This record gives sequence, C-alpha cells and structure tokens, in this order.
Amino acid sequence: MAAPLGKLKFGLAFVLVFLVANGLFAQKLREHNAGPGEKMVPAGDGHAVPAQAGPIGQAVVTGNGINYNGGPVLKGNPVPIYIIWYGNWNGTGSNTQATVNLIDTFLGANALGGSGYERINTTYGDTTGNVSGNLQLSKQVFDTGSQGTRLRNSRISAAISAQLTSGALPTDPNGVYLFLTSSNVSESGFCTQFCGFHTSQTLNGADIKWAFIGNVDRCPSGCEIQTTGPNSPAAGVGGADGMVNVITHESEEAITDPDLNAWFDSAGNEDADKCNFKFGPTQTAANGARFNQTFAGHNWMMQMEWENSRGGGCDQTLGGPFFTN
Ligand SMILES: [Zn+2]
Repeated sequence: MAAPLGKLKFGLAFVLVFLVANGLFAQKLREHNAGPGEKMVPAGDGHAVPAQAGPIGQAVVTGNGINYNGGPVLKGNPVPIYIIWYGNWNGTGSNTQATVNLIDTFLGANALGGSGYERINTTYGDTTGNVSGNLQLSKQVFDTGSQGTRLRNSRISAAISAQLTSGALPTDPNGVYLFLTSSNVSESGFCTQFCGFHTSQTLNGADIKWAFIGNVDRCPSGCEIQTTGPNSPAAGVGGADGMVNVITHESEEAITDPDLNAWFDSAGNEDADKCNFKFGPTQTAANGARFNQTFAGHNWMMQMEWENSRGGGCDQTLGGPFFTN
C-alpha cells in the first residue's frame, strides 16, 4: 500500500478509492490500523519446501492477522535494489550527496539486508519458498529531470522505462526499483494523500516492481515522524531519515506483496501498513532525535513491521516483543 501520511488526516475511504483507481498500494494513514481480519486462506497442499529456510514456520503460514492471497513473493538472497535518484540531488537542505550516501549505506552490504529487522520479512513466503530477509543495493543512476518536476505515475513509468531500455539499469523482475525524488519535485498525491507507494508494471517486457518515495522534507508535517532525525546534518533537515522510514515501508511490501496479490489482510493492509508510523520503544540521539535501530554505524528511526508468526504483531526485530505503538 502507499505509505500513508504521518500526521495529515485523510479519509480512509478516499485513500482506498485512490489506490484501487491507480492499481497501486500506498502507505496508509497513520491513525488507521484496521483490526486484523482473520480470513483464513488455504495454505496450498502444505508441502511447500522453502527455498530459503525461514526461521519460523513454513513458506505459507496463515492465522497471524494477515492473509495469503496466492501470489508470489520476492525470494532473492539478497533481493536486488535499484535506485533512480530523480531531480536535483546536488542542492541544499537534504537534497544533497549526504542523503545519497546515507541511503546507499542503509541499503548497502551488512546494513538493512540481513538485519534482525529485515528478517521479520522471512515469516512471509509463497508456495515455493520464503522471503530471504536480505536485500542489497545493486545499482543506482541519476536522472536530473527527464520528465520535469511535476510528476504523475505515467511520467515515473517513462523515466524508469528509459533506464531499462538504455541498459543503464538491468531489467530485473526479481528486484525492486526505488524512484527517489528531491523535494522540489511534485508527484500527484505525494504529501497530500500518501508518503510513498509501490506497484508493479510491465516495463521493457518484464514485470517490474517499483516504488515512489519522495523527499519528505517537502511535507515534514505529513510524512516525517520528526523534523530532525538521528542522521540530520542540521536541525530541521530530516528528509534523509524520513525517506529511510518510507523506504523500509515500501521495500518490505514490495517484497512480500510484489504484484499486489500475495500478503495483505481483509482490509487491504499489507505488512508495513499494519505498523504504519508505529515505532515501538525509542532512544534519544546526541542531537535529540529519537531512534529505534542501530546498524551499519548509524542510528535509524524506522517503523516496525508486522511479523507473520506468534499470532502476529508489530516488532522491531524478528522474534522480539510486539508493541502497539
Ligand atoms: Zn504500505
């Protein structure tokens, strides 16, 4: 689903209509956390063999507040991540190389991929295996504005497609493409209806999974949990940390529900939607910012994820305690 706004309040019905009309899943509204509908889905013949042995349960486990709807998950180990940095990333504020470096670190080796946090995703699978819990930045490119600064979904599709057809990025149906925009770029619905979204679409002849994540410094009141993050270069420049949070949300969902037909509950909530803008216990960094994860030499403030085991709940690490906020 689209990453819902953190603080702005919009009618859920409107959001759902928007999503259905656009065939994508956007991050949901912060205050909406639908009670998990326990609609049981038959788990195949029960003999699926996980390609990557999950730490808990089998490839398809139901009854934990989220339903399996029959579609595939991404099982790469790691799942390759591709980034298109769109707009002006040599600007001011958080539109800088420092943000590029931070997010590269976050998605690089020995960081988010393989972390106890990402391993929550291993509780999801399909009839041929589990999610590996590992992902890693594979390649990134820069597009300073081939489609202008006022985007809509068709323009994002065109910009991604251009990278595939030119060969600048591989055409990889098993990867996730993150389209990250600088804060001077608008996208229809961004900051007014959602903070990010993911979808799948045939591009260059392949089923490509892509997500839009805008620089949330465009709308800190709606899409940032705090205006100064643990990695902010200056007070009030929280865009990079805010984008990290949305990236976790959309990448989890793009892996567990890549074609929008695998894992979501009866209300349409995917795994990250069920913990949207819920962080669990936090600590305070030297600059006063809150954080709840530490790896790769940084503190991070990232929403929890729904664990599909032990009855289901939001946690910060696989097998850790569940928290409601
Ligand atoms: Zn979502």
